Amino acid sequence: MNDAEIAAVISALPKAELHLHLEGSIAPGTVVRLAARHGVQLSAEDVAARYRYSDFFGFLEAYKWVTSFLRSPEDYALIADELFDRLIEQNVIYAEVTISGGVMLRRGQDVEANFEALRRSAERAAKKGLRVQWIFDAARQFGADKALETARWAVRLAPGGIVAYGMGGDELALSARELQPAYDLTRAAGLHSLVHAGETGGPEVVREAIDLLGAERIGHGLGVLHDPALMDDLAERGIPFEVCPTSNLRTGALDRQLGRKGAGLEAHPLKTFFDRGLCVTLSTDDPAMFGTDLLGEYAVAAALGFSPAEMERLAANSFSSALLPETVRQAYLARFRQRAGELGLL
Ligand SMILES: [Zn+2]
Repeated sequence: MNDAEIAAVISALPKAELHLHLEGSIAPGTVVRLAARHGVQLSAEDVAARYRYSDFFGFLEAYKWVTSFLRSPEDYALIADELFDRLIEQNVIYAEVTISGGVMLRRGQDVEANFEALRRSAERAAKKGLRVQWIFDAARQFGADKALETARWAVRLAPGGIVAYGMGGDELALSARELQPAYDLTRAAGLHSLVHAGETGGPEVVREAIDLLGAERIGHGLGVLHDPALMDDLAERGIPFEVCPTSNLRTGALDRQLGRKGAGLEAHPLKTFFDRGLCVTLSTDDPAMFGTDLLGEYAVAAALGFSPAEMERLAANSFSSALLPETVRQAYLARFRQRAGELGLL
């Protein structure tokens, strides 16, 4: 298959995406509309300028800025509906979408009303063939007390479709030990545990996420590059990695991990991880803020040397790593494999 053929096949394949932030998916034109709703005049160029960063902290600042225009349940419904339509266009049939619960709480919002609007948006998406489950996320730099408060809300809202408690933001801001009470609480309530680790931090942050917080998947995980023994251990244990190449490039995380400026996507360790046996899944993280989408990330994988058969395994990993009951996961995988066969990928 040539590049165009593989792109067409990947586009037609039913896909899952597991690492995707709702608030990082707001297209520039929608930011302009949201800002106008709240009396702020912006141009698409203003937003594009805000969506460029020189480092990870610049990215966190931009994230803070864009979420400042999310003030009502209607705002959340708008961005969720738009995100889901874009996923459906790409043949994504299952998504785990992260909501920045910690940010809603910090802004003193009506979390319950916001989530009800999101839950309804997910119901609309389900009618169009996209199943959505939610991850309720705290920001590490907001501290242990806020993480615990966010964890309590995750548990309270869980019956509406929240399946996991997550942790994003500056992973070096707070030790894993300080986050244990929050994870102990959500785990006891039956929620899954997810952690961003090894995005900007080293292998020790990844190890602690698993050992101390019970992380079932690792968000990013680039830091394991510096610890081959840990890589082999995690490959053996089958712990999935949610890898987001364009994100790592655009936030400067890739440069930081490689210890040099100006590394391009060709230096990304996605293929290295895959070849080493890690369970790698592919995601966009914050697609609008990084100018990418899921098809774009698969094009990156193809450019990094994944063969068609390897692309099939990569895409299957997102279903096998989904936070779903085993029977449902197997049903998705069977549907995926049947279509992959029809498209000539197997
Ligand atoms: Zn993320």
